[in-house]
Amino acid sequence: APTFTHEFNHSAFKGKVEVPVGLYINGEWSTSTDSNAKTIDVYNPTTGEVLTSIPEGMPSDVDRAVEAAHKAFNTTWGLNTPGFKRGEYLIKVAELMERDLDILASLEALDNGKTFSAAKAFDVTESARVFRYYGGWADKIHGKVIETTKAKLGYTLHEPVGVCGQIIPWNFPLYMFSWKIAPALATGCAVVMKPSELTPLTALYMTKLFDEAGIPAGVINIVVGYGHTVGASLAAHPAIDKVAFTGSTAVGRKVMEEASKSNIKKVSLELGGKGSNIIFADADFEEAVKYAAQGIFFNHGQTCCAGSRIYVERSIYDKFTEAFKKTTANLKVGDPFAESTYQGPQVSQTQYDRIMNYVECGKQEGATVITGGKRHGKTGYFIEPTIFGDVTANMKIVREEIFGPVVVMSPFDTEEEVLAAANDSVYGLASAVFTTNISRATRVSQALKAGTVWINCYNELHPQIPFGGFKQSGLGRECGEYALENYTEVKSVHINISGKCG
Ligand code: NAD
Repeated sequence: APTFTHEFNHSAFKGKVEVPVGLYINGEWSTSTDSNAKTIDVYNPTTGEVLTSIPEGMPSDVDRAVEAAHKAFNTTWGLNTPGFKRGEYLIKVAELMERDLDILASLEALDNGKTFSAAKAFDVTESARVFRYYGGWADKIHGKVIETTKAKLGYTLHEPVGVCGQIIPWNFPLYMFSWKIAPALATGCAVVMKPSELTPLTALYMTKLFDEAGIPAGVINIVVGYGHTVGASLAAHPAIDKVAFTGSTAVGRKVMEEASKSNIKKVSLELGGKGSNIIFADADFEEAVKYAAQGIFFNHGQTCCAGSRIYVERSIYDKFTEAFKKTTANLKVGDPFAESTYQGPQVSQTQYDRIMNYVECGKQEGATVITGGKRHGKTGYFIEPTIFGDVTANMKIVREEIFGPVVVMSPFDTEEEVLAAANDSVYGLASAVFTTNISRATRVSQALKAGTVWINCYNELHPQIPFGGFKQSGLGRECGEYALENYTEVKSVHINISGKCG
């Protein structure tokens, strides 16, 4: 395959890395069979310059990939490879990812703009854990024997759903890749994956590790292309049995529509969010301030579960705002490879423009900029961490997902009032409550309409704990045992043991 080669030279890693670029179908590299295919420019968000141009995949390539996946599913994979063996492959991939931790983290920082330190400590480390975790599940997926009458033996089988189309975004390129591929392979499914066209490099590097681990050809196929071509054809494909999508609610709606119009393929969706973070006066003040900052500014605010609406009890509102402002103003924005950097650039010019439009809109709607609100530096897509105060519930910056380092703050007086405000959203992905009163923590967490509630913490994720959305934040759950349901069909078997009819 043609390769993208990059020489890294930062304090934690020096060395040349080669990434194969092209379409990875049936264990081989190719370019599109469609003569209209062009190339996709991959940018370095730190400089705004093109890093490389890679071959574009097209719907005809999805057809080839689906065919290869079916062949693998019916011959070398699926129920033809025992669970323990599939588990060994996944655990081997986890080990190789840990071996190549610095390489993967460097590529992620280069391509996405997230800091190398966060990519290493979080994205790559956690992604390897996801592979290992599902490696452990692969030989523990089984049905139940169900008691009925003396005349019958009834049981269920949890069979792999088949060939899965998987579509992921750019905010956690490797982590979202792992959340999709690892449970699918554990259950015995074969996949056709479309990484985001903005951040394909770690997914393409992973093909080297899949090959090294010995995963049979065709089990994993990777087609980099645009959403309206490759993504749409995965959602609409008549020979794909299930589509798993992570991205915006607007596109999730289209994916569901295409799935329903084609073959009613199974659908799981991880969509947008507008997380509420509720801080009561009795909370551990210092910890709440730190978590509030981490809750919104981790990954430059490009996190679906970001705590982008902060509600603080009125008696501590001014003191909290002051401390939060100070913490925020001290977050260092800059080169993702510098050790002291907390926040790198946003992923693209488009995202930069979108976020700055929201900042302008907030000002025009009458909100007050407490800190930030401007571009950082002269090149690349850097934005100052930004806090808005004096907001009202109907402002766009309060209602819509900004997906950047921008947070809105409001005071509240009662538990009832703050719960109504927190739940006043079309989204229901994640929320948090900070309090030392256990009854209140329990009450509030039960009343919040969200798939995840954090008590006295924020942005905590584990491969073992399910993640997903209420309301328009999605369908189904990823991670934990729950994710296996996305990739299995339940078959019920009735055996007549009486030997007689009726
Ligand atoms: P996006 O919806 O624009 O794109 C996501 C993916 O879908 C990309 O690979 C894109 O190419 C593809 N796509 C675009 N149009 C398509 C179409 N018509 N058919 C099929 N696929 C298509 O989202 P994004 O900007 O890449 O990511 C940001 C969004 O993702 C945010 O809304 C964020 O909240 C959400 N997100 C959610 C989770 C979660 O777990 N809930 C996690 C990460 C990101």
